[in-house]
Amino acid sequence: MDNRLTPILASLICAVLLVPSVEAEENAQARARNLAQANILIDTHIDVPYRISEKWEDVTRATEKGEFDLPRARAGGLDVPFMSIYTPAEMEAEGGSFQLANQLIDMVEAMVARAPDAAVIVRTAAEAEAAFRAGKLGLALGMENGSPLDHDIANVGYFRDRGISYITLTHSLSNQLSDSSYDKNRPLQGLSDFGREVVREMNRVGIMIDISHVSDQAFFQVLEISRVPVIASHSSARHYTPGFERNMSDEMIVALAEHGGVIQINFGSSFLTNEAREWSDEFYDKLEVFQEAGDFDEQDVEVAAFTKDYRKEKPFPFATLSDVLDHFDHVVKLVGIDYVGIGSDFDGVGDSLPVDLKDVSAFPALVEGLLGRGYSEQDITKIMGGNLLRVWRQVGEFTAL
Ligand SMILES: [Zn+2]
Repeated sequence: MDNRLTPILASLICAVLLVPSVEAEENAQARARNLAQANILIDTHIDVPYRISEKWEDVTRATEKGEFDLPRARAGGLDVPFMSIYTPAEMEAEGGSFQLANQLIDMVEAMVARAPDAAVIVRTAAEAEAAFRAGKLGLALGMENGSPLDHDIANVGYFRDRGISYITLTHSLSNQLSDSSYDKNRPLQGLSDFGREVVREMNRVGIMIDISHVSDQAFFQVLEISRVPVIASHSSARHYTPGFERNMSDEMIVALAEHGGVIQINFGSSFLTNEAREWSDEFYDKLEVFQEAGDFDEQDVEVAAFTKDYRKEKPFPFATLSDVLDHFDHVVKLVGIDYVGIGSDFDGVGDSLPVDLKDVSAFPALVEGLLGRGYSEQDITKIMGGNLLRVWRQVGEFTAL
């Protein structure tokens, strides 16, 4: 700006240009906040139980670390977070995943016991809506990795009784149910016989099938077997990360939508942009070499120091809110507004969240971004939770037939 401008001229420019735009921005912010508060907002993947199993904090109060706690959920308008009941892939061989899954569910029950006026566990779409109307946070349970089923079909019903609403068939390695997108070995060529049986049993008892993490082959086999729509609880569009099987290809998104399912967009930067994806691939390759050379564990201080130095030398290319919005746009362009939602992966993707979406209090920024891209309020409520509720309801109704 030219410093020779007279104060009068400067204030005139302010009045004409600046003030209205500030006002418009404030209006958009207020509108987004209201939308987030007034409508049910569901996030199908938050890894807080595992986070507090490693380093306990009372998340019913404000916490300094992590990306989820009750006050921040309230500030962000989040109503139904799916608590991830995650067990590491290595436990498939080592054992102990049934035990850990039960303990993590206990931890979610303990959260509710500490804040019974503020939170409740929800097991169905109707219960989620009732919690929302009552002004309570509805904690839903999603099991990430089918390993805790322990080769016993009766455990599907058992975990349904404990409140599990979806099961992600596998995690980062092939397991008793399915091959994994992260595992270069494909021993099952998709699903195992037990995996097929589990998909049918999940239909029968009313648990949503989550195809995030499975191989492409397994995904298409699930679609052939399941008689109800399935979800991807935390996956993004492979269109932006070519070759990254953990995200969904256009062909898969179309097939998912044809079956009435929904893709819940993951916010991790390496799920969103190729630049962050390549950074992560290179980093994890080098980390693996470092860990093997020194025989270090993930939790060792040496690993933390290696990570810190690496990031200092080569800063992580964080994605932006705009990148997140691109994924929503892409899915909507491909299959329409009815098949996409939110599966942030908060507390699950380390320090890799986009600049403007760092924790659960940031949902209004996402809503504002969607408004800015021209989505109607009705469309935004579908993304926020309407689409997921539709699938959840359908899965529940099927079991009641
Ligand atoms: Zn995951």
